[in-house]
Amino acid sequence: SAKRAGRGRYRFFDPSLNVADVQEFYLEQAFGEALAKHQFVLHYQPQIDLDSMSVTGYEALVRWKHPDFGLIYPDRFISIAERSGFIIGLGEEVIALACRQLAAWGDEGLDTRVAVNVSAIQLSQPHFSSMVLRQLAETGVETWRLELEITETAILEKESMAIASLETLRAAGLGVSLDDFGSGYAGFAHLQSLPVNKLKIDRGLIAQLSNSHDDSLIVSFTITLAKRLSLRVVAEGVETAEQLVYLRLAGCDLVQGYHFSRPMPAEQVAEFERGFHATKVNAE
Ligand code: C2E
Ligand code: MG
Ligand code: MG
Ligand code: MG
Repeated sequence: SAKRAGRGRYRFFDPSLNVADVQEFYLEQAFGEALAKHQFVLHYQPQIDLDSMSVTGYEALVRWKHPDFGLIYPDRFISIAERSGFIIGLGEEVIALACRQLAAWGDEGLDTRVAVNVSAIQLSQPHFSSMVLRQLAETGVETWRLELEITETAILEKESMAIASLETLRAAGLGVSLDDFGSGYAGFAHLQSLPVNKLKIDRGLIAQLSNSHDDSLIVSFTITLAKRLSLRVVAEGVETAEQLVYLRLAGCDLVQGYHFSRPMPAEQVAEFERGFHATKVNAE
């Protein structure tokens, strides 16, 4: 019947829809409008080099500045954006925002790098690498200033396209980091063959440094192995001085975490740099 055929076409009137579905439905509708109205913003968290105690760059983390709900964090919307395909448009916006910010900082005399997170679905797009290179060229930002953070599953699942894109971008001078290393499946075996130059140890392991002997060993071993493979190592989620001491002794190159700074709006970065430098000079 006509009634039967119409059923399910308007998800809104489906009585079996639960609250989570309604939220998801609403979010999908709202994404397009949010993009058009530039409601997505990037916050920046510094990465600090442990040898020179200087800021070497920032990780860009997306936030949705919602007019009614305030700041929405990525854990609430990235997976929905991935399921709906919206991640393609959002990912392009994130790279555009990062490139524009790098250009603006360059004009102000701040020479730094920005790392953006890239989802597996973005990497599986045939035009991903040309899109990134075009954005860099349009903003006049040198390629080495942009870094991509990818996860292990991203390359293992969509293998050939993802690897080819990353190789193109590495050859063009961009950095590629393997994010959340040790968060699940620890692929030591693959590490050697991946087109990455940096490894980020997951904050779950860093959080266990003073509690778990096994996790501390995994962190030390990961750092040692990464160095053998000529990868730079970043520890994420560093919150305490104790963790910092351990990581320094273990030979970690870079650290990132609340101990130094939470992710902050771009407008606060210049002041952070001045404050960080002043603290360093006073300590010397
Ligand atoms: P991630 O890339 O592993 O980013 C690190 C997360 O840890 C960020 O959460 C950051 O704010 C948080 N963090 C940093 N330092 C500390 C610390 O000392 N302690 C604790 N407890 N947390 C710390 P955030 O910003 O909520 O982002 C969550 C995840 O969302 C990111 O994990 C990343 O996977 C994803 N994400 C963020 N921005 C983007 C984006 O532009 N595109 C895509 N595809 N994913 C993104
Ligand atoms: Mg990341
Ligand atoms: Mg991470
Ligand atoms: Mg993560």
